[in-house]
Amino acid sequence: MESPVVLIPALRDNYIALLYATDGRSVVIVDPSEAEPAIRYIENRGLQPLAILNTHHHPDHVGGNRELQQTYDLPVYGSAEDRDRIPGLTHPMYDGDTVTPAGLNRRGLVWDIPGHTRSHVAFVFLDDELLFAGDTLFAAGCGRLFEGSAKQMHTSLSRLAELPESTRLFCGHEYTVKNLRFARVVEPENPDIEYKLARAEALREEGEPTLPSTMGEELRTNPFLRVGEPAVRETARAQGVNGDDMVAVFAAIRAWRDRF
Ligand SMILES: [Zn+2]
Repeated sequence: MESPVVLIPALRDNYIALLYATDGRSVVIVDPSEAEPAIRYIENRGLQPLAILNTHHHPDHVGGNRELQQTYDLPVYGSAEDRDRIPGLTHPMYDGDTVTPAGLNRRGLVWDIPGHTRSHVAFVFLDDELLFAGDTLFAAGCGRLFEGSAKQMHTSLSRLAELPESTRLFCGHEYTVKNLRFARVVEPENPDIEYKLARAEALREEGEPTLPSTMGEELRTNPFLRVGEPAVRETARAQGVNGDDMVAVFAAIRAWRDRF
């Protein structure tokens, strides 16, 4: 199946995702960090924008909301908890709610996945096997803990890890190469990391996105989804962490990544 998602590079290393409706002519805009690149893409192709979906309130995810809304009069979907901090929010959502902008004809669920922020959500399109994970799950990485605890983030990532392996992962940033270099230090003996790093470096040399990833690839390469693996626990133990405590292992690796 051809991907119904295109990624538009924005700011320094952000991606704005456009998800095509089944008609192939209308789109929803996920996390517009800025308006201009999205408007240019939409106008050049004569597309019809339907809505904005925001995973969280950070400026590099909502910075284009106002201008896009003024240009196209769009509904904005995001966490109800971000009511006061997502510009132009019209559809405050709760865990398990369905995102159904008119004309999209795809069913997207809102999942609360706190940790990066206290009110971060994912948009999960189960039938289409698409996951928009914002700054919670990156290819081979995860977001910094700004407002949440290690326990919260570990729980959120564990929830995403239950998605089918063929689910395509779209996230907010192009951090894959650096993340995989870190993953290789955590798990030097993991050939899947080596293989994926070589592929990611080649894509970046061509100026291509390394995304989407798949949940299957993440389960095999992402140290933050692998805190139960003996090799990862061993690495944490070597740093003085209780290797039997998955949250402690997660916290240690997250802190290590901050210094990497
Ligand atoms: Zn963020």
